[in-house]
Amino acid sequence: MTDESLNLRDSFGRHIRYLRLSVTDRCNLRCTYCMAEDMSFLPKSRILTLEEMLLVSQAFIDLGVDKVRLTGGEPLVRKGVVELAQNLAKLNGLRELVMTTNGVLLDQFAQPLKDVGVKRLNISIDSLQAERFKALTRFGDLADVLTGIDAAIKAGFERLKLNVVILKGVNDDEVTDLAGYALDRGLDISFIEEMPLGHITSHDRDETALNNTSIQQQLDAHFGLEEAVFHDVAAGPSKYLKFKNSDSKVGFISPMTDNFCASCNRVRVTAEGRLLLCLGNEHSLDLREIVRERPLKLKQELLNAMQRKPQKHEFDPNEITITRHMNATGG
Ligand code: SAM
Ligand code: SF4
Repeated sequence: MTDESLNLRDSFGRHIRYLRLSVTDRCNLRCTYCMAEDMSFLPKSRILTLEEMLLVSQAFIDLGVDKVRLTGGEPLVRKGVVELAQNLAKLNGLRELVMTTNGVLLDQFAQPLKDVGVKRLNISIDSLQAERFKALTRFGDLADVLTGIDAAIKAGFERLKLNVVILKGVNDDEVTDLAGYALDRGLDISFIEEMPLGHITSHDRDETALNNTSIQQQLDAHFGLEEAVFHDVAAGPSKYLKFKNSDSKVGFISPMTDNFCASCNRVRVTAEGRLLLCLGNEHSLDLREIVRERPLKLKQELLNAMQRKPQKHEFDPNEITITRHMNATGG
């Protein structure tokens, strides 16, 4: 892309180069902080087809986006996701195709994903204790995820990162265990503060809220942390350090305690084709209608929509202002 005027820039001068594409709102787990126990999912007719997802991605890439993350819900439960990845990886201008997954199905999918051109994976795991993992995910089997991580290591991705949400009184005694597990395997690890997205039934988010600063202090005391030289130009809002005497990086994604919006370089498209301009706001655009009714207007609509990208998110820890759950948002 050489014509700068055709790049996606918002009204605060931020260059949008990173798309998170949710391929489904469905999931084979029910993490307590992500979903309510009783969830209803979108009917198939309201979900973008794989062809529509490719079309939308192509439009973003033509407008300067060079990194796409496939996510969900659980992306690996969407039929045809490997073919979608294969077609995306071929698009001219895409520098990096990556995925976030809960790892349950990676034993089956790690190698095919690597083979079609997925560069890196983020794998979510919040506990290394089987009973606790089951409780946190409502019915998940930890062994599946551990096998999936092994399969991903064997498949030879450029980098693998674990995503961890630590909840006070639930799994906050596992910070160093999870980091040690990542270090032993040469993986990176990120700690994500729980966000008030959607109504949940299992716990009061106020009571489980934990500040990433205390996690960083714990890790520094146990392993020693140092500044990391970080080359990912699309890294955006995460703060990264590295473990001493190791290549493993540790990321802190702190939407609740460290407003990182100034460096926001991303937008999300939900499985039903809603373009979300900010995780913590409801500003959105119905891309499904545009793709189905007036596809030639797609790029112009994307360019226009950037002007509505809010300056920053507005999470209120005491009030649910965003009623969509993370699985419907695309994490
Ligand atoms: N199912 C996949 C997975 O779990 O990795 C991908 C989608 S999931 C919504 C993406 C990430 O969002 C996961 O790492 C998950 O832990 C995180 N997440 C879900 N709900 C969250 C919340 N309310 N606050 C913070 N992170 C959340
Ligand atoms: Fe599913 Fe991921 Fe949400 Fe857990 S965090 S319920 S794995 S979408």
